[in-house]
Amino acid sequence: MKLREYEAKKVLRDYGIPVPAGFLIRSADELAPRIHELGAQIVLKAQVDVGGRGKAGGVLKADHETAVPVARDLFNKKIKGLPVREILAEQYLEIQHEYYLSITIDRSKKQPLILFADSGGVEIETTARERPAAIRKAVAMPLMKDIPSFMLRELTGSAPREIDQVINKLYHVFCEKDALLAEINPLVTTPKGVFAADAKIIIDDNALARQGITVNRDLSEREREAERHGFSYVELNGSIGVIGNGAGLTMATLDLIEHYGGRAANFLDVGGGAESERVKNAVRLVASVPSVRVIVVNLLGGITRCDEVARGIIAAGIPQKVIVRLAGTNEEEGKKLLAGKGYEMLDTMDLVVKKAVAVAT
Ligand code: GDP
Ligand code: MN
Repeated sequence: MKLREYEAKKVLRDYGIPVPAGFLIRSADELAPRIHELGAQIVLKAQVDVGGRGKAGGVLKADHETAVPVARDLFNKKIKGLPVREILAEQYLEIQHEYYLSITIDRSKKQPLILFADSGGVEIETTARERPAAIRKAVAMPLMKDIPSFMLRELTGSAPREIDQVINKLYHVFCEKDALLAEINPLVTTPKGVFAADAKIIIDDNALARQGITVNRDLSEREREAERHGFSYVELNGSIGVIGNGAGLTMATLDLIEHYGGRAANFLDVGGGAESERVKNAVRLVASVPSVRVIVVNLLGGITRCDEVARGIIAAGIPQKVIVRLAGTNEEEGKKLLAGKGYEMLDTMDLVVKKAVAVAT
């Protein structure tokens, strides 16, 4: 799970890495009462889950006079298509130099990989392409508690020594927080010392329980319901609802829809061994999206029994057209149950998808 910038910065602060003074606001009105906590110059940073916010207009400079209207404008903007619901208001930094620092796992060596570059602010991919020699690398040994100073020297070269301690502390963050990525870009020098001007931390999803993290993603009511039922469910913006079993079959159905020029409204993987109650909930959930005009049910009966699926579809009793492909265990019983009730049944995935695209467009 990716932490938002303000969450990541809180972690850095807890580990003694200097971050600029700042606070989170959820509306422009929350800014004025606390603006005195920051200096005369401030930065307003949209907390949206994309990189490159700076270039996309999501990082804006302001002073005490302009801060509220600038924040209001930012709340009304979309950054790379995402609505701005939270803004981090921070003390403006007098940046002298921007560095890049990150720690990830080197998958081939199976050890933490530390990257440091003297050109921060830009994406590391760009630096890697244009100035590969500017990126310095070090691989930490397993069970290493601290990064030894010779290694820090090799990484940072002639950069200020203060940065060595930032690297060491970020390494502690990386290990103790079960991170897949801990990145400070840019790590900056200012007349007041070194600061993490931006921060990105991705926690290994498998470690969320150990880390005591409750997922705070912005889920829609429907996505929450899907989670409660244990469905893998994703919303898109077309008009065809998709139900499959198994990630592979579900994704293949989605690909085929695109192939025939259709657009899925959502897709749901009911998982293995779905019984009628579960299928009913799945069909109702997918059908509850107003833009869904037709639903493709593409299920392979293995552990899942096609007659159970048919009972679930019938029990759902939804108004939209349902186009079904059932194959495998108890296929005949399933088809018999659905026959004559207004459901379209076709024998191959290709046919159901083609039909759904035709109905939807
Ligand atoms: P990103 O574009 O999403 O990576 O957002 P960043 O937080 O990295 O901000 C983008 C760029 O804005 C940084 O690389 C800096 O050059 C600039 N920036 C952000 N905060 C400050 C600040 O306090 N002072 C100055 N001078 N520049 C800043
Ligand atoms: Mn950045």
